[in-house]
Amino acid sequence: METRNVVIIGAGPSGYAAGLYAGRAQLEPLLITGRELGGQLTLTLDVENYPGYGGKDAAELIATFQRQAEEFGTEIRVDYVTDVDLDSHPFTVRMESGAEAAAQSVIVATGSTPRMLGVSGEELVGKGVSYCATCDGFFFREKRVIVVGGGDAAVEEALFLTRFASEVFIVHRRDQLRASPTIQERAFKNDQVKIIWDSVVDEILGDDEAGVHGARLRNVKTDEVTDFPVDGVFIFIGHVPNTSLFEGKLDLDEEGYLITDRLQHTSVPGVFAGGDVQDRVFRQAIMAAATGAASAIEAEKFLAEHENRAYPGHSQ
Ligand code: NDP
Repeated sequence: METRNVVIIGAGPSGYAAGLYAGRAQLEPLLITGRELGGQLTLTLDVENYPGYGGKDAAELIATFQRQAEEFGTEIRVDYVTDVDLDSHPFTVRMESGAEAAAQSVIVATGSTPRMLGVSGEELVGKGVSYCATCDGFFFREKRVIVVGGGDAAVEEALFLTRFASEVFIVHRRDQLRASPTIQERAFKNDQVKIIWDSVVDEILGDDEAGVHGARLRNVKTDEVTDFPVDGVFIFIGHVPNTSLFEGKLDLDEEGYLITDRLQHTSVPGVFAGGDVQDRVFRQAIMAAATGAASAIEAEKFLAEHENRAYPGHSQ
């Protein structure tokens, strides 16, 4: 089995930044991509808030992340990690292809995934159900859509959808939004956005052939049920961290996020984590990249302190 100084799990901004930093530290990292090269950036079209990035195209930013990491010696492997053994050192990382790698240190950058409602009809993804307004908004020109959720993401995406849809209804389970006041104010001022308070989606109505034609809404205070005609249902009710691989192996908080200290250390020495898998607050590409870089710097220190670094020509 090959032995690597650093195995990075995940190919979002955090994993790539970790690759760039570990690569520049001559650690010859192995980055295992998972299924989504680019992570959640693939769910967006424009990136306007990544400092120093003058372009806007998310795909181009992802390609640049990857090119930079590779330029400094990161090996990018398209595979999916199915199991990790963190009980003995070097750690073992097993992949879907059957390959295994021994790792002197591991950087977890597996990100998070949009939370699902768990109602019938939600399987009509791509046929009216969406978790990404920037990806799918275009298909709802002059249509009616609902957005589920009351946080920053839901309200921002509802505002974005007004570029396309004729009417956007935010369905929120309480009588108060969670979104920040500035974002709320923009929604309240926009005539195309209407809010359906105290309501949940019990079912998404539609079928495989014709797609979504409505949503069954229930007012949680009165229990009144209404079949609300809409063409699209956009769901923004938070995220679930991708940590199932680490259950019982690394400390997780009550919502399943990896617990890291200020230096990106997890509960196992030699295992570091960056990005959304350990960040339930900011969830921004810049924070993901920063914490990925920090993870690589700390991994380098760990390897130096433990003198278990494999020097170039890493296979042992
Ligand atoms: P949040 O956790 O902030 O909000 C999730 C929303 O979904 C809440 O309103 C919640 O309701 C609702 N919700 C959760 N589960 C369900 C359910 N099963 N059924 C119906 N509604 C449900 O997630 P976001 O993705 O909006 O944001 C996550 C983080 O990212 C936040 O810190 C946010 O500030 C940040 N962010 C910042 C942005 C910006 O600054 N521009 C843009 C997007 C995100 P309830 O309120 O009742 O709990």
